[in-house]
Amino acid sequence: MADALLVAGIAAGAAAVGAAIASASARGRLARTRGQALAAQTSLEAIERTSTEERRVRDTILSSMREGVLLVDRDGRCVFANDALVRHLGGSPASLDELFPTEIRHAARRAGYTGAANAVEVETGVPSRWLRATSQPIDDGGSVLVVVRDVTEARRLDAVRRDFVANASHELKTPAASIRAAAETLLNGALQDPPAARRFTEQLQRDAMRLSRIVSDLLDLSRLEGGSDLAERVRLDVVAADEVERLADRAEEAGVAIELRTDGVPSVAGSGRDLALLVRNLIDNAVRYTPRGGRVDVSVSAEDGKVILEVMDTGMGIPQRDLPRVFERFYRVDRARSRETGGTGLGLAIVRHVAENHGGEVTVQSELSAGSTFVVRLPVADAPRGDAP
Ligand code: ADP
Repeated sequence: MADALLVAGIAAGAAAVGAAIASASARGRLARTRGQALAAQTSLEAIERTSTEERRVRDTILSSMREGVLLVDRDGRCVFANDALVRHLGGSPASLDELFPTEIRHAARRAGYTGAANAVEVETGVPSRWLRATSQPIDDGGSVLVVVRDVTEARRLDAVRRDFVANASHELKTPAASIRAAAETLLNGALQDPPAARRFTEQLQRDAMRLSRIVSDLLDLSRLEGGSDLAERVRLDVVAADEVERLADRAEEAGVAIELRTDGVPSVAGSGRDLALLVRNLIDNAVRYTPRGGRVDVSVSAEDGKVILEVMDTGMGIPQRDLPRVFERFYRVDRARSRETGGTGLGLAIVRHVAENHGGEVTVQSELSAGSTFVVRLPVADAPRGDAP
């Protein structure tokens, strides 16, 4: 009996221990499960945080892009459009059917069913702009990503470059052809005729000089397109005095009086070499386009934090309709006079580049048969800025 009791006691004790162990392990499991749930929640929150953060970054990038981005799903629904797309297309299409211009819609459709990327350029809107749309399939089901860029400015620059190359080639071709003709004439017998030989050799010299002037102006222009080095402190009155002296003989030969007026001015931050080029081109033009008996007045003064160079002549003047274009490369009002007097058609383009590289501007006023005044305004070095506190 005692044994039975003992066994029962042991059994009960074992059961109690078992139950205790069982409840302890259940608690452990519970705690583990709770821990796992907590960890899962934490990582879920982290994922949510990360994906919210990623979404924010993605949205910021997409909305600050200059390219328009449109995502079209396999059913032709537009599921995403950024701000630039709305700007470029004038709205956000809900589906492919609403995507205009139609050329872009057709291109996007084509990319969806062929699975191959394509690009189209279309002219649209008033004022007209050129848009380049690239349609890129993004899966096998027909979803397409359309990226739209405004290429109006790029196309304009391309046209300017093409025109420039054509003009430059034409300018170089004329003296080159003339050199070839003169050399052939000399070789074909003119060498034996001293007066003719002299004439053709002078022609060779003139054309060679013309070629080298064009090439030298082209090189200056291409250097200036990369900007000017503004490291020096330059006194424009001193530069003007040097250039007037340099051109004095030529002015005298042409019968044109030339005078410089200045009371001394503050320095400008810039390139002495480029500013000399600016002053030289303006005075040279004034002398070349002023008939015998006329005059050229150069003045350098300072006003409102600007140094002002004025080159005024009593020459032939420029018609009003040509005034806005005289700073363009190779633009000439009187082609024959420009050539006769050794012009390249690049002088005023050089002047404008130098002025702009120095943070300044050049303007012109002119009256036919009365004369022209070119004015260059450049900021004084270290002048307090208007917007500074
Ligand atoms: P160019 O080498 O032909 O003189 P520029 O670029 O210096 O070229 O000038 C462009 C054109 O502007 C000239 O061909 C000329 O027709 C006109 N022009 C420039 N300066 C004057 C001026 N002082 N008076 C009259 N016409 C001028």
